[in-house]
Amino acid sequence: MRALAAFVVVLGLAAPAVARAAGPRVPARFRSIGGRSGKLLAFIGTREGLTELKRSGVSLTVEEPGVYPFERAAGWREGLGATGASVILLTPFSAKRDGRIGSYALGTWPNEGGAMEASPASRYAASRPRYALPEGFVEVTRATASTRVSEHFRLGDFLTKDQPRVWPKYLVLDMRLVDKLELLIAALGEAGHPVNGLHVMSGFRTPSYNALEVGPGNRSAISRHIYGDAADVYPDDDGDGTIDDLNGDGRADLADARVVAEAAELVESRYPDLAGGISVYPATAAHGPNVHVDARGTRARW
Ligand SMILES: [Zn+2]
Repeated sequence: MRALAAFVVVLGLAAPAVARAAGPRVPARFRSIGGRSGKLLAFIGTREGLTELKRSGVSLTVEEPGVYPFERAAGWREGLGATGASVILLTPFSAKRDGRIGSYALGTWPNEGGAMEASPASRYAASRPRYALPEGFVEVTRATASTRVSEHFRLGDFLTKDQPRVWPKYLVLDMRLVDKLELLIAALGEAGHPVNGLHVMSGFRTPSYNALEVGPGNRSAISRHIYGDAADVYPDDDGDGTIDDLNGDGRADLADARVVAEAAELVESRYPDLAGGISVYPATAAHGPNVHVDARGTRARW
């Protein structure tokens, strides 16, 4: 009876938002965990760590690591409406053995000890909380790769682009990054450059992939990409595989990447808690201009 009453409250509050919106929405009752953007659709953590859900009165009915529709994780009866939100229980970091989980290779984090214990990267990471080991990994299957984590982004957008035939894959994803990217899309619109989304050229990079020095981006042993709070992005509404001509000068080039970076600066000025790195990268033989954005918690520019 209590559960039914709670459901009626949620449905009542959520219904107008669902009617207006093109995509699914976090129920209004949980709006505070939709992030600063209000557009987050996934609650990621350990079973013990999903405290926001508990504070909102949700007791999880699932135990195993995995990606669950919100309704199933919260034990709601099926068919009573869908929020489009997901609850993701992390595979613990300790499931990684010899740099792998199952057949999927991840490698070793700088602060993990072992072979890299004495490296400068390891010493740097050891003294900084933002470089602590990830709590765990999102297990992503072919089926769950299309799960929305927010209005504009899906789990698969952030996967390391290697090992194409190996599934499941494992992902570190900080929802603060997703929140920042959603706010960036909104800020671009405000600045007179409305975009339908951002292409994630590179999101999470496993340490072993990051060490290969292939593909785009800045290759530091302590890259924020291995901590799941960084992405190299560009708007590509026309789907031609390169940045759109945002400033209307007839060229798709670094100046357009700077438009994106300026919008990211606006986001940081409004939401200092989402501060991090912002950097524009010019085109190379391998990729077009793009913008690195991360949410490490302190301002960084290079
Ligand atoms: Zn980057």
